Amino acid sequence: MTASTALLKSLETLLGPEGHSTDPDVIAPKLVEWRGRYRGTTPFLAKPRTTQEVAQLVRLCAQAGAAITPQGGNTGLVAGQIPDGEILLSLERMRAVRALSPLNDSMVIEAGATLHEAHVAAEGVNRRVPLSLASQGSATIGGLISTNAGGVHVMRHGMMREQVLGLEVVLPDGRVLCALDALRKNNTGYDLKQMFIGAEGTLGVITAAALKLSPAVTSRVVAVVGLASADAALALFHRARHRADGLCAFELMNRQSIAMALKNVPGLREPLAIAPPFTALLEFERCGSNGLEEGIEAMLAEAMDDGDILDAAIAHSKAQEDAFWKLRESLSAGHRTGEPQANHDIAVPVSETPTFLEAAQREAQALSPGARIVAFGHMGDGNIHLTVMAPEGAIEFPREAVLRRMHDLAAGMGGSISAEHGIGVERREELTRFKDATAMAMMRTLKAALDPHGIMNPRALVSVE
Ligand SMILES: Cc1cc2nc3c(=O)[nH]c(=O)nc-3n(C[C@H](O)[C@H](O)[C@H](O)COP(=O)(O)OP(=O)(O)OC[C@H]3O[C@@H](n4cnc5c(N)ncnc54)[C@H](O)[C@@H]3O)c2cc1C
Repeated sequence: MTASTALLKSLETLLGPEGHSTDPDVIAPKLVEWRGRYRGTTPFLAKPRTTQEVAQLVRLCAQAGAAITPQGGNTGLVAGQIPDGEILLSLERMRAVRALSPLNDSMVIEAGATLHEAHVAAEGVNRRVPLSLASQGSATIGGLISTNAGGVHVMRHGMMREQVLGLEVVLPDGRVLCALDALRKNNTGYDLKQMFIGAEGTLGVITAAALKLSPAVTSRVVAVVGLASADAALALFHRARHRADGLCAFELMNRQSIAMALKNVPGLREPLAIAPPFTALLEFERCGSNGLEEGIEAMLAEAMDDGDILDAAIAHSKAQEDAFWKLRESLSAGHRTGEPQANHDIAVPVSETPTFLEAAQREAQALSPGARIVAFGHMGDGNIHLTVMAPEGAIEFPREAVLRRMHDLAAGMGGSISAEHGIGVERREELTRFKDATAMAMMRTLKAALDPHGIMNPRALVSVE
């Protein structure tokens, strides 16, 4: 599957000097995964500017039997974007907004644009793309769709899949699937775009997407709440969901996750006067009349009177809102310390989150006494980013055993081993332990039908055989 000199020459001619690089200094940052756990290699970085160039590039690679790894913003956390000798395909020069229609509440945007760029374009016509995640300044539309990314507003607006109306995709033989219609209803057979959402670049290269636009938010309330336990967090989640309007984010952070962020990320502040075992960050939104804050204040006061919460603070300025969110968004960076650790992206039914957290704590201690549990995530979706860190100063750490045990725990509660980051290279083996055999076989059939020679991101998610 390696690229011949003849193929590289043809690609150089096709893409021109602006459209490719073999300079190790240019390529180097694209070969290292965000956490520094994977380092890749590639003979050639391709940077096409148009869908036609992508199509010709893929056709040439297919004819030569050379494999391709698509890469967006390189923020993926399961290493699916890191090549191991494949041609590295970046859409960084394809980031145009092709169409923007507030009357149809839709936009067509090229796959190399970042989520932040899509937000700015939508805000320009008083709309929004309601997907938010800490990596939005770098993560691209193509990467977000290929991983079916989630983020902090999933409980109200759904994952990336829910934002996609149509797609343009270059297939593994170089044909272009043009399904960019911005329709809400289109029952004309298989909804082919769905196959590419969450496919991690294994079925084709997404070159553009038609996205849904949502109404702009007119009022927003952000609050942080101190809690004695995960059970109290679950009770508050239901109170906030059913007794107040517009809950759009419910993020849970354990003490260890906040402590590590405060220690390792400059400029953060403890959000409450106390340091409770758990802190929840709640966001409420409304697109219409005011009066949102009064309802939330009343709901939190009631929770305090009932003894369900320890403390609470509502942001009264944009700066305070940003500070609350900055803490939450810095948690991943806070434990990127280079120490041995096992990172998880687990989903369990929301009702099971406290039980899962308690069991995870117990099992992690049994496998590695003194292990530190960094637990945070999108509790409103039952999605916990659990990191088990080696005891302070320890060199030995049973990482594989911890990963497998946490996955077993989640699966035993009806959960998933990957809520929003995908499978990539990192979780391929674990996928085969948990995915239903028929579903696995169907995934392979699909892969073989579209990519019989296995040239599209061959090491991620699923192979032909
Ligand atoms: C600090 C931080 C916070 C994060 N928070 C969240 C979060 O809250 N929720 C969440 O879901 N994720 C989160 N992530 C993970 C990451 O941002 C998402 O997975 C994102 O969707 C990846 O986008 P990307 O453009 O960086 O893609 P990459 O990392 O470059 O690629 C990811 C996968 O998509 C494929 N791909 C990329 N572009 C294309 C394309 N055009 N066509 C076909 N395949 C393609 C790649 O081959 C790879 O398999 C976070 C990451 C970081 C670093």
